[in-house]
Amino acid sequence: MFAEVIVDVVNKEVDKIFDYIVPQNLNVIAGTMVLLPFGNRTVEGFVLSLKESSLVPKEKQKSIISVISEKQLITTEMLQLAKYMKNVYHLKMVDILRLMLPSQIRLGKVKDLTIKNIKINNDFNFVNNYLNTLKANAKKQKEIIEFFINNDKISIKKSDLAESFSKSAIETLIKENVLIQENVKQNREPLKNIESNYKSVVLNEYQQNAVNKILEKPKTYLLHGVTGSGKTEVYMNVINNVLKQNKNVIMLVPEIGLTPQVMRQFKARFGNLVALIHSGLSDGEKFDEWFKILNKESRIVVGARSAIFSPIENLGAIIIDEEHDNSYISDSNPRYSTHEVAEFRKNYNICPLILGSATPNIDSYFKAKNNEYELLELPKRANNKELPKIQIVDMCKEFRGGNTTPFSEDLMEKLNQTIANNNQCILFINRRGFSSFVMCQNCGYIPKCTSCDVSLSVHKDEHQLKCHYCGKKFKLLTKCPMCGSEHLKYGGVGTQQVVNLLKEKFPNVSIFRMDNDTTKTKDSHAKILSDFEKSKPAILVGTQMIAKGHDFPYVTLVGILDADLSLFMNDYRSTEKTFQLITQVAGRAGRSDKTGEVVLQTYFPKHYVYNLVANYDYIRFYEKEINLRQTTLFPPFSKIVRLLITSEKEDDAKNATHNLFLNLKELRMHFKEDVYFLEAMKSPIGRIKNKYRFQIVLRFANNNDIINEIFNLVDRNQSKSVTIFVETNPLSLS
Ligand code: ADP
Ligand code: ZN
Ligand code: ZN
Repeated sequence: MFAEVIVDVVNKEVDKIFDYIVPQNLNVIAGTMVLLPFGNRTVEGFVLSLKESSLVPKEKQKSIISVISEKQLITTEMLQLAKYMKNVYHLKMVDILRLMLPSQIRLGKVKDLTIKNIKINNDFNFVNNYLNTLKANAKKQKEIIEFFINNDKISIKKSDLAESFSKSAIETLIKENVLIQENVKQNREPLKNIESNYKSVVLNEYQQNAVNKILEKPKTYLLHGVTGSGKTEVYMNVINNVLKQNKNVIMLVPEIGLTPQVMRQFKARFGNLVALIHSGLSDGEKFDEWFKILNKESRIVVGARSAIFSPIENLGAIIIDEEHDNSYISDSNPRYSTHEVAEFRKNYNICPLILGSATPNIDSYFKAKNNEYELLELPKRANNKELPKIQIVDMCKEFRGGNTTPFSEDLMEKLNQTIANNNQCILFINRRGFSSFVMCQNCGYIPKCTSCDVSLSVHKDEHQLKCHYCGKKFKLLTKCPMCGSEHLKYGGVGTQQVVNLLKEKFPNVSIFRMDNDTTKTKDSHAKILSDFEKSKPAILVGTQMIAKGHDFPYVTLVGILDADLSLFMNDYRSTEKTFQLITQVAGRAGRSDKTGEVVLQTYFPKHYVYNLVANYDYIRFYEKEINLRQTTLFPPFSKIVRLLITSEKEDDAKNATHNLFLNLKELRMHFKEDVYFLEAMKSPIGRIKNKYRFQIVLRFANNNDIINEIFNLVDRNQSKSVTIFVETNPLSLS
């Protein structure tokens, strides 16, 4: 017998399947991990399949050394998914398998957590004899034995026992074999003791209609519901029904670590049936949650993007909440689209896939319009309240009127009012740090990162300049290192600066900041959010982290300080992303019986996106956007592929780009009409982490032959010093 194996080594040259002999005495099945001789090393490997014979010559054949786990760690479905992803995304098999078997499981670094418990010897006569022979003054031992006899079959942690009884008596009883120590597996479970605060609601007609439709047929549904329309309640109902059919569920939530409320809701309602998978868990928790899924103890997996690779079988529904969220596209290696992976699993399990959003992806809505998905609408807030009114403020006018602060007069007035009413406010600014750059006003010098071609962001609180691309830190400047001038100008207001200004203005109000810098440690998001929830009046300043799904009843005001930040990004989706972000942030206001309002500050108040967003007019926005994409031939009417060519040697990257470009020009001749755009250039950010970056961008008709040809060309142009990544419809071209 032979096993087809992928070795767990990342190396351009070893991305292929190796045959190994399966020794008679080993029980090897597809989907396990094994130890292998590889070159002169011993490495781990994934078994893809078994076969009777091998074409490898006899003298070159090697044997598997041992089996790491007798269990099938990678399910049959996941093995098929891996093959599918290899074809579609042109990824290395080992990178895909690593998604399916997280490092905590693979590398053997994390183990079961066991604790020492104490129980009583189950030989009753032996215990009784011992008790009878005890001297009258051995009261302490007697007490302990009686405790165990009165609490039938109890097994208790040694330290807990020692809190109530004498330590030396416990030790004596252990020595005498009356008490026995045992190792007990302890589950490391996130959010263990959540009290259930679940109130059952009666679904309204829109919600009920959506649930009924979803349960009818195993297809893909787009659940388009305004913020607060009760989408979560629809998901919960679907899940309940699926559980009754004895099937299981995956529910994806963007960056779930940021939304402890959602996790709590699920834990409270479904308790132990829920497994949580996200990056905020400790290694031990991840390990235990993953095995709970593999061992079929969990029936519902709730998690961020990576949870789509959970080894849960017999799926009855897959749910992607906030389906428009960027986090569902993996934009670093291995690159994949969560929607496509979910679609594969939906087809494999023959179950419904539900995509929910207040502002669906243009792509998804297009598919719904073309009957590839079924559209389900929740047009009203569940509590029948109006959506908060959005007021657009022209920041150019403010500036001309002499206001140079980041806050317009209207916003300030409303902020004062909110505080006077003892309510809460959320201020959104999509830029962390104090400012995005610092410039010498005398000579124009701007400090840049030494490893990347980007300017450094100012972090005054930490007295640092930070590179947001590689994380490198430098000392804050007090004067220009070029000309010595002390006139430094700070450009691009960030969260730190906003908080500092607010603290001056409102010294007695609780002010919180939520961004990458304040949420580095485990549970810090949850802490900020719960502190904010408890404080009144209060202001929460944050980046797009605060846009996600939070439900705070006292938030009556939302301020969007610089709406334009996402509008002029290097991306054909920048208008779409702006519409989505503003709608999401605005949706945080007025969610309870209190009326909410939103102030949106912009330097381009006439831009059509703001007018449509202020009217919550998704449909008209969609129509405008889809017309534009059709006339300009952008996705979904075409595919954009970026080939990102990186190398530590600038010349190597440049030469590789040049050669690849010549090849692609030839390819273009074959597919003349179908290739709309082809250009090679230095990437807008020419260097990150000391790697030089060049890129070739193609736009072409949805034609699989072209993409396959591109993959072939990329393979032929890879070399030791140059790495080429292929990205389809990338989130950013920077
Ligand atoms: P969404 O996910 O669409 O933004 P949620 O599911 O968070 O909306 O629901 C918003 C609020 O409305 C929640 O407080 C929820 O408990 C409440 N809600 C949902 N459905 C109903 C209903 N049928 N009747 C009353 N309240 C509801
Ligand atoms: Zn200077
Ligand atoms: Zn850097």
